[in-house]
Amino acid sequence: MNSKVEKHYEQSVDENLNVLNRTQRIIKMALEEMREKDGKYELLKEPLRSLSVRIPVKMDNGTVSVFTGYRAQHNDAVGPTKGGIRFHPDVTEEEVKALSIWMSIKCGIMGVPYGGGKGGIKCDPRKMSFAELEKLSRGYVRAISQIVGPTKDIPAPDVFTNSQVMAWMMDEYSHIREFDSPGFITGKPIALGGSLGRESSTALGVVIATKEAAKLIGLPIKEARVIIQGFGNVGSYVAKFFHDVGIKVVGISDALGALYNPDGLDINFLLDNRDSFGSVTNLFENRITNGELLVQDCDILIPAAIENQLTEHNANDIKAKIVVEAANGPTTLRATEILRENNVLLVPDVLANAGGVVVSYFEWVQNNQGYYWSEQEVNEKLELKLVEAFSRVYTTSIRKNVDMRLAAYMVGLERMTKAIEFRGWV
Ligand code: GLU
Repeated sequence: MNSKVEKHYEQSVDENLNVLNRTQRIIKMALEEMREKDGKYELLKEPLRSLSVRIPVKMDNGTVSVFTGYRAQHNDAVGPTKGGIRFHPDVTEEEVKALSIWMSIKCGIMGVPYGGGKGGIKCDPRKMSFAELEKLSRGYVRAISQIVGPTKDIPAPDVFTNSQVMAWMMDEYSHIREFDSPGFITGKPIALGGSLGRESSTALGVVIATKEAAKLIGLPIKEARVIIQGFGNVGSYVAKFFHDVGIKVVGISDALGALYNPDGLDINFLLDNRDSFGSVTNLFENRITNGELLVQDCDILIPAAIENQLTEHNANDIKAKIVVEAANGPTTLRATEILRENNVLLVPDVLANAGGVVVSYFEWVQNNQGYYWSEQEVNEKLELKLVEAFSRVYTTSIRKNVDMRLAAYMVGLERMTKAIEFRGWV
């Protein structure tokens, strides 16, 4: 292994580092490897802007709850910032900052002209009514309206937010600005200027990246057995895409548990019977835990749920030959190193799940030009971008003798570092 990479991971063995510190470590390594000036790390290690807001919401029972939300904008040297908004009880400012940096990397890898942004509200949407969620979504937009906009920072869906939430947010923003602003946010319903193919785009990107990875290691994809952790928007579409072309999905999970069957699961039945938050495993007696699912026999493992799922404690037990990170940050740095030692090909999140932001970019382009594309056109353009990005990251990893994650960061930072220099910032 490259000695610099070894040193980097040695420093990172502390699995308790928060997600922002971990991201900063990889950024530093990537910039060192690219021989960039130190000043660039100082600039890129934190978002340029981070706003923390408090949003009062009159709840259905007459009480008022005050929610905390964030919006972080990593860097706008390349163009406006872009990234999703998540609604989750575990949201922290640190996490939102780290996720905004990841968005910069994703946009850089995929060659879309944005920097990274991210938002989050600390709340549990599973315990809130439709009316409460609408008030929260609108209140959040009012709170951050000064720093967002179609040419400033363009939000999108993320964990537990969907096209309905985007619709409320777009409507609120249009009221504030007093003109229709479809380009303010992406992931909208089609009737409001959403793009065909956006809803399934992250999953389609994961599937394309998985096929590219399988080609690389000579694994016949048709015969592959796939485990998918998570059955939300991304996980369920990935399962469907594979199942529809006859690829065996042997395991899936949701927040309540997991199902594993070496002969393959009936994905259509599972899709038809899940509740609005994607839970379905509770219908089965023979379910196992999420942790148990990850180490079951398979060829391809797709973590599509939450952060820190593959760690130093289970990485050695992973049976898959390929791990494709559909979720953001499912693998710790130490686990990344262990998988590399065990010859498991890891396709990092910033590459594997970047299909979402690519089609968000297509949505924004369509909004700006007022002319809409067919789903086939969207999907073909996405595939072209992803296959090219995969090849660039893989080639960089070979040329520089670094793992795919570090290579992805190097590719992802290239344009931003140039833009910063041309603007004379560093
Ligand atoms: N939230 C998604 C992500 O993490 C999509 C962001 C976007 O479409 O702007 O990549």
